Amino acid sequence: MPQRRPFVAGNWKLNGSLAGNAGLLAAIVAGLPATPPCDVVVCPAYVHLPDAIGRLAGAAIGVGAQDVADVAGGAYTGEVSATMLREVGCRYAIVGHSERRMLYGETDAAVGRKAAAAAGAGLVPIVCVGETLAERDAGATLAVVERQLEAAVAVAGLAALADAVIAYEPVWAIGTGRTATPAQADEVHGAIRAMLARHDATIAGRLRIVYGGSVKAANARDLFAMANIDGGLVGGASLDAGEFLAICGAADPA
Ligand code: PEP
Repeated sequence: MPQRRPFVAGNWKLNGSLAGNAGLLAAIVAGLPATPPCDVVVCPAYVHLPDAIGRLAGAAIGVGAQDVADVAGGAYTGEVSATMLREVGCRYAIVGHSERRMLYGETDAAVGRKAAAAAGAGLVPIVCVGETLAERDAGATLAVVERQLEAAVAVAGLAALADAVIAYEPVWAIGTGRTATPAQADEVHGAIRAMLARHDATIAGRLRIVYGGSVKAANARDLFAMANIDGGLVGGASLDAGEFLAICGAADPA
């Protein structure tokens, strides 16, 4: 099985301030080992990206946006393009977070276009997929995740997404304190890898598939120990430096 470097990203959502972020970032930098056991990424709000990137210069921490436009430029008021994000030093962009899908009506096709736009501009897309509680209860989890992923692959092509990160985030576990069990998550991660392997087994074996949904210090080690779970996308717990550092540390199998 290919060695996949674990990946842990903090999604700060609509939180933070320049002063608050400075304190949080300083605490994360101070607590992170010189050689972290995983790729570490933080995703502040758009307007805070340049400040965070400046503060993290020289640190082993990447910065990502929480979204990206699905077009390159033009008359799209309020949008921010992948090229603009690259220009200010962003390296990642979350696409298709369930809050964007549910609150802002993002379709599977739009998420696919965002993933393609991000990858095309040299960003690593963090492509979020996941089912609602009703869909899980109806036994539709794998069908939903497959539909969401296939839409992204259809637009971008798997080769363009070879360096992407897939985040499996069951909607019922996001911000609810209710975490998928390691076995539940690993089953879906394994199915995602198998789906992608139908397109290209080598890429599917290399792609990181991370779990999101109420990851915290107390459950990260058990989740990350599973064969197909390559790290986490962390919401609430990423706003606490101690929690976030412990989650990053849980990626170290030692
Ligand atoms: C998220 O927003 O991606 C997330 C997983 O949130 P939380 O960790 O708070 O459930």
